[in-house]
Amino acid sequence: MLGVEKSASKDEIKRAFHKLAHKYHPDKKGGDEKKFKEINEAYQILSDEKKRAEYDSYGRVFSGGGGGGEQGFPGFDPSGFRDFDFSNMGNMGNMGNIGDIFSEFFTGGGMGESERRGRDISIELTIPFKESIFGTERRVLVTKTGTCKNCDGSGAKPGTETKKCTTCNGQGKIHENKRSFIGTFTSIRVCPLCYGSGTIPAHPCEICKGRGVTKAQEEITIRIPSGIKNGEIVRLSQMGEAVQGGIGGDLYVKIGVISDPVFIREGNNILMGLKVKLTDALLGGEYSVGTLDGTLKVKIPEGISPNEILRIKGKGVPTGKNTRGDLLIKINITLPNNPSKKVRQLIEELKKEGI
Ligand SMILES: [Zn+2]
Ligand SMILES: [Zn+2]
Repeated sequence: MLGVEKSASKDEIKRAFHKLAHKYHPDKKGGDEKKFKEINEAYQILSDEKKRAEYDSYGRVFSGGGGGGEQGFPGFDPSGFRDFDFSNMGNMGNMGNIGDIFSEFFTGGGMGESERRGRDISIELTIPFKESIFGTERRVLVTKTGTCKNCDGSGAKPGTETKKCTTCNGQGKIHENKRSFIGTFTSIRVCPLCYGSGTIPAHPCEICKGRGVTKAQEEITIRIPSGIKNGEIVRLSQMGEAVQGGIGGDLYVKIGVISDPVFIREGNNILMGLKVKLTDALLGGEYSVGTLDGTLKVKIPEGISPNEILRIKGKGVPTGKNTRGDLLIKINITLPNNPSKKVRQLIEELKKEGI
């Protein structure tokens, strides 16, 4: 409209506007009132930071104003942009980059028959460390709007007829004229009463009063995958709130992992400490070690040093169907505490040997 680039600065837009406004001003010879109005409207949008940002992000130029539908043009909801009828847009004059406007408009606004969607629900769940490693299952009670069990979501009293929707006259759609600086056009939106089906129950369901959904407590089984980390989120598609004539929202479960006094997760490995007697450290030995996989026999090689790490392959965090990280055992050598007279003598013997 103003012949400026998408990246144009405020000043450039202003200059372009002044130039064109001057050219088409209706009081001037060769002026064009319609064109002047259009330029003016385009400038109103581009000179308003907020409106422009919206236009740049979503390709939307309607910005909730201009008396949109029941919900205007909120957030990312593309429901205001369904099918367009361009039959009323013949008088757009010389629109220059109209192609750009519409390509952005469509990709940004999101075309197509977007479905109604129920609200998402977020819950938190805390599990012990071991269950976070091997995966687990939890059953939780969630109070939410769900599909009415009595009518199976239809909103009709079971076994009764439906009738033609009174709002859309059975069309399932409602035509609305919208005006904008690029002309008037008709948008078609899904009927808010029948949600596009064209029919409504003749006798509403007594339980949900025809809404097809009811608020109820529902037991949901949540499968928590192996190797989940503290703070990770499990998403259960369409297990959120239901909505009539649409798909359910999602259920998001944020997992809290209780830290363990013995095991520490390090990436895909699990670290633990093991107390080893001085003599076993010197001469080698075998220990029964309690691991997440039960008791394992672990060989201590002779001459092991404090803080040395023994790596047990494949006993860490599951990373695939048959693959796992490692178990890392950090050696902690215990020294004799309050040695007896005999032990003391033996240690003194060692000392004589220069050990
Ligand atoms: Zn019902
Ligand atoms: Zn309808």
